[in-house]
Amino acid sequence: MNLNQNYDVFIIGGGPAGSIAGAKLVQSGFKVKLVEKMVFPRFVIGESLLPRCNFLLDEANMLACIQQANFQYKPGVVFQTDSDLEVINFENNLGESFNSSFQVKRETFDHELLLDAQRKGVVVEFESEVIDFDAQDCIITVRTKSGEVQRYQPKKVIDASGYGRVLPRLLGLEKPSEQAMRKAIFCRVTGDVRSLVDGKDGYIFVGIHDDNQAWLWNIPFNDGVTSVGIVCDEQYFKSFNLTESEFFDYIIQTNLPASKRYAQATKIQAVGCINGYSAAVTKLFDKNFVLVGNASEFLDPVFSSGVTLALESGAKAAELTIKELNGHSVDWQIDYADYMMVGINVFREYVNAWYDGRLQSILFCDDKAEKVSQSVVSVLSGYVWNQENVFVTNPKKMVDTIYRFSIIE
Ligand SMILES: Cc1cc2nc3c(=O)[nH]c(=O)nc-3n(C[C@H](O)[C@H](O)[C@H](O)COP(=O)(O)OP(=O)(O)OC[C@H]3O[C@@H](n4cnc5c(N)ncnc54)[C@H](O)[C@@H]3O)c2cc1C
Repeated sequence: MNLNQNYDVFIIGGGPAGSIAGAKLVQSGFKVKLVEKMVFPRFVIGESLLPRCNFLLDEANMLACIQQANFQYKPGVVFQTDSDLEVINFENNLGESFNSSFQVKRETFDHELLLDAQRKGVVVEFESEVIDFDAQDCIITVRTKSGEVQRYQPKKVIDASGYGRVLPRLLGLEKPSEQAMRKAIFCRVTGDVRSLVDGKDGYIFVGIHDDNQAWLWNIPFNDGVTSVGIVCDEQYFKSFNLTESEFFDYIIQTNLPASKRYAQATKIQAVGCINGYSAAVTKLFDKNFVLVGNASEFLDPVFSSGVTLALESGAKAAELTIKELNGHSVDWQIDYADYMMVGINVFREYVNAWYDGRLQSILFCDDKAEKVSQSVVSVLSGYVWNQENVFVTNPKKMVDTIYRFSIIE
């Protein structure tokens, strides 16, 4: 069988991580092939972005295509209990470069990015699936739509296969996540009540339900459609003895703010569900490959960090691959794995503090010093590599310290 050696880099998957990696590589003069299993546009969960995404897309010359697509402007996050609101306005950060974001239907957002990568020179093949990888000789095997089997031998493979987790599965790199088994149940609706916050539309609402046993997302799009989701422990869900769809309706009816917001709403798609979404791997790279986006580690959706981390890792993997292919040495452990872990570990601390309740105390504490508030906003905006932010350099200590302060108050 022919071995195609025409490409410098082979990318598995056309989500945000794959598109940004491909776009950066071709703009540096490398030949890139990207295969995508699905037909685009395709649905994927994860519709609320963070300001750091704009920074990363801007660096990759991809922000214009997103700005032109006219997505819903997102000024920030509102955390909501039955009786209280905490508004996180992205403008009140530590002086980061971008201080707003977008709410996006991912079928459109991902398609726009992939088309942009294609315009820049990435060779994209849809409905083709990676089925094997020889990590030793860097040989990737693909089955095309017509059933033909092709083999490629690039200089580097970037696995951006998201929930497909292609190389972790093929190479036995999967390891259990330390996060609890949680599930997300979701739907899109129209006719919900939209409330302005500080005179602005477009905030994501994150509702806290039943003493933090579950949380709800409300993501408004600019065509009147809203994404609604409920996240909880598997055990909590099972305790109701309901189907996913019944559970969705029950939580919406019994959560005070949601019952008002969705009183007149109509579902426009079937209720969907993802179980046990957290994932981890034993290693992020080897001589011939690197894992990016959800094909590497995924913690939790509560802070809408998934696409940010996908773009960050895709961009970083591309930068280091460019350096390596240009003949410079790269320390993938320090420059990629350790670097990515800085940001992932900040979110990890926040996710843990969210589920054990410490973060809610911090968020709803009224007497936070301005600098503390700005530092928290910077993290929630996705700027988790800013070494001037003490929540980045020392996340656990800072969360613990501010939590102790908040409960004394
Ligand atoms: C409940 C929930 C809610 C979330 N909410 C948010 C949110 O609000 N904001 C946010 O930023 N993130 C959110 N996320 C996370 C977000 O979904 C992911 O982090 C993001 O989609 C990762 O992007 P990616 O490019 O790594 O992969 P993906 O977007 O999953 O793209 C991977 C692509 O690879 C393709 N592929 C898979 N297998 C193969 C194969 N064998 N061959 C070829 N192609 C293949 C797939 O078809 C897919 O198109 C959420 C996650 C969950 C579980």
